[in-house]
Amino acid sequence: MQPRDPQHLLKSVFGYDRFRGFQREVIDHVAGGGDALVLMPTGGGKSICYQLPALLRPGVGVVISPLIALMQDQVAALSELGVRAAFLNSTLDARAAARVEQQLRAGALDLVYIAPERLLGERTLRLLTECHEAGRLALFAIDEAHCVSQWGHDFRPEYGQLALLRERFAAVPRVALTATADAPTRREIVERLLVDARVFVASFDRPNIRYRIVEKREPREQLLRFIRDEHPDETGIVYCLARNTVDEVAAFLGDNGIHALPYHAGMDGASRATNQARFLRADEANGGAVVMVATIAFGMGIDKPDVRFVAHLDMPKSIEGYFQETGRAGRDGAAAEAWMTYGLADVVQQRRLIELSEADANYKRLSTAKLDAMLGLAEAGDCRRVRLLAYFGEASSACGNCDNCLEPPQLWDATDAARKLLSCIYRCQQASGFSFAATHIIDVLRGKMNEKVEKYGHDRLSTWGIGNDLPEAEWRLVLRQLVALHIVEVDHDTFNVLRLTEASRAVLKGERRIELRRHEGKSARKGPGKGRARERKRGAETVLANGDEALFERLRTWRASVAKAHGVPAYVVFHDSTLRTVAQLRPQNEAELAAVPGVGEKKLANYGAAIVAVVQGRGQAP
Ligand code: ADP
Ligand code: ZN
Repeated sequence: MQPRDPQHLLKSVFGYDRFRGFQREVIDHVAGGGDALVLMPTGGGKSICYQLPALLRPGVGVVISPLIALMQDQVAALSELGVRAAFLNSTLDARAAARVEQQLRAGALDLVYIAPERLLGERTLRLLTECHEAGRLALFAIDEAHCVSQWGHDFRPEYGQLALLRERFAAVPRVALTATADAPTRREIVERLLVDARVFVASFDRPNIRYRIVEKREPREQLLRFIRDEHPDETGIVYCLARNTVDEVAAFLGDNGIHALPYHAGMDGASRATNQARFLRADEANGGAVVMVATIAFGMGIDKPDVRFVAHLDMPKSIEGYFQETGRAGRDGAAAEAWMTYGLADVVQQRRLIELSEADANYKRLSTAKLDAMLGLAEAGDCRRVRLLAYFGEASSACGNCDNCLEPPQLWDATDAARKLLSCIYRCQQASGFSFAATHIIDVLRGKMNEKVEKYGHDRLSTWGIGNDLPEAEWRLVLRQLVALHIVEVDHDTFNVLRLTEASRAVLKGERRIELRRHEGKSARKGPGKGRARERKRGAETVLANGDEALFERLRTWRASVAKAHGVPAYVVFHDSTLRTVAQLRPQNEAELAAVPGVGEKKLANYGAAIVAVVQGRGQAP
């Protein structure tokens, strides 16, 4: 094998035995001078698609990324691998920046990360031209390439100007990468930034993420229980729609002994940056796990690999959003969970946001369609993953790692119940000349007296008490489903009263069947107990025997002290999955250790002896 052979570099530098998916194809294509667009979900392994060609080609690979906050850790991780990397952005003072420029001129770097606005400055462009003329520009990698799309919510004007790369540096290959791009965005990226690009699209499945959507009852308590029972001392993200909810939930978790930090656009820049930095570095070497409670302002580029859960207290407005946000869990490939509480209020609130928005009718229609797809996922009684992937045009079969696969909900034919509910809305309206809200309608259905029933004589209606076979909670589910399907409308401007819609007729006439999941409270206790949760959670990971688990913990302790000493996050030293394999295989010398995935030559040289010592119980502080 040649030292410049991709397979050899994968092992010697990154410590991996095999390429994932089409990594090898991208690498060969780009190393051969071609342009490429790479679509892979978060955690899929995009970085190697530009890092390796940069090592294969002469000169430096220029990585353009809007995520300044991450550059330092990315560079630290590469340095740990023995790759010569640096970054150029506004966080560097003039002297540090001059040093990086000097390294670039001297051809002393394999990779340089640059913020787009920095790259577009005349000074940097001149420097790159110099490198180019000396034959020392390996490639351009344009990360988060969807930022070029004017229609996307991450639009960055500087990204459009990156078109000049193909004009000024025509011979230098470009690889654009993103985890989020629908068909129009893909076209935009290719048209605006690349030349004759090959497009590589990976499966969007994230098999290690378990999807769970639960009924919203007391969301905060549910969240607290979820974290305490299933993810104690683990790092996660909690998404809320509103800024004040973020503050309240963060305080609530804090009061309950969980290390939670808020993040939203209403906070000043400095506290936001501090909280983000604390989150990104949260690990056993840096004060333990952190739960970030945030609006979606906390988003792009959160590439902390060991986020163990993403919780949604409010439903996102589209499946794209849901997929992107939940995708921040489990980038290291170990088991992770996407958990969401969902209730009628979510449906009503999101519909309302669309109505109130100032967008044109076309955009509103589009938003409504996106929301409906999301509602379909939330209401689904079958495999969540199948639905999720189908949305992105990918066929799959039941996954065995979502709530509906693990504990199939009981489904029942709610067509009759739906008709009763619709008739009741209709009768009350007809009798009194105006509409009523959910609580009243359900009271009438269940034959339950209240002030309004008395006042308007609704106990004399034909629908009085026809629904007393179902508990109130079950009726709310029927209603929620009907609202989700546009069969009932909630008028938020008039006390949330319920109205029939065009679509009601088909149900009333018995032409449309409604299927529902049983209310969770009725079956056995939901939310697995502690022991069971732990056991289930381990499902996707290698289960360690007792002795191995103890060794794993010792290795983590060793890693924490190394990370602390070097001032880097623990995962930069070694990933959990690598330490777990070490604990199982118990390598007795460095040659055996080299076979463990994730141990490249540089790490072997730096840490090999120390790890073997820990394995042999001779571990001492580094
Ligand atoms: P992305 O940028 O697509 O979100 P990364 O490039 O950060 O993902 O890769 C995610 C994780 O997968 C990283 O921990 C990376 O080291 C690991 N990884 C990437 N390629 C491979 C491979 N061929 N074999 C094993 N692990 C890999
Ligand atoms: Zn499933």
